[in-house]
Amino acid sequence: MARFSAVAAGARRVASSSAAARPPAMLFLGAPGVGKGTFASRVSADLGIPTISTGDLVRAEIKRGTARGRLLAETNDRGDLVGDDLITEMALERLEDDDTRGGFILDGFPRTTAQADALAKHHKIKLAVSLELDEDVLVEKITSRRVCENCGEGYNLASIQRGDIQMEPLLPQRDGECDKCGGNLVQRKDDTEDVVRNRLEVYRRETEPLIKYYDSLGVLAPFPVRRGVQDLPELLELIKS
Ligand code: AMP
Repeated sequence: MARFSAVAAGARRVASSSAAARPPAMLFLGAPGVGKGTFASRVSADLGIPTISTGDLVRAEIKRGTARGRLLAETNDRGDLVGDDLITEMALERLEDDDTRGGFILDGFPRTTAQADALAKHHKIKLAVSLELDEDVLVEKITSRRVCENCGEGYNLASIQRGDIQMEPLLPQRDGECDKCGGNLVQRKDDTEDVVRNRLEVYRRETEPLIKYYDSLGVLAPFPVRRGVQDLPELLELIKS
């Protein structure tokens, strides 16, 4: 608990030092599988602002079957990162849409310093939440993940109990079926163990430096994940403080 209070104090400092009049523009940092997408969609619903997930943009393009989608599929299936120019163009284009005028949450973007620099030219980030979780827990959690192939809603089959980490599974009401739209639940091609290990290595090399990057801008709020989605109340408190 002491840790949460310290985090909340840090976030209060962050919030008060930023331009309060601007709409909330925040992003979630964290390794693959830490729950960025799940937390981001819940926080979005609570704050009434959209989440822009570059992973979702990539998957939508793949689903459309365009030439660009076929190229993206190869990169995605290996667990490698899409080139900075292409992904930045896709993200910035999406951020032009009207629904982002009142603020937005970024999930999975930026993932490199070059992307962060490009983003900073167009949008001022008020808060960068860094979700933290041990790597072996991440691997178990991510390989147990299932997503709706229709709407992208996420679920998790794993029950993880390790020390102070207690994560309940996030199960659908009906086996293999999405609660939201009834679509089929499937494992993402890049959620298999080999690909996950590669994604974690790419994360450490390319994305982890962004923690220091946003810390040096005074907008970083670290958040240790303990109970998965049940940590949401503390996360919302951190964001709103
Ligand atoms: P995600 O769902 O966020 O894990 O993203 C799935 C895949 O999309 C990643 O493994 C990358 O291939 C690609 N991708 C998503 N966001 C980015 C980004 N910011 N930079 C580069 N590649 C990305």
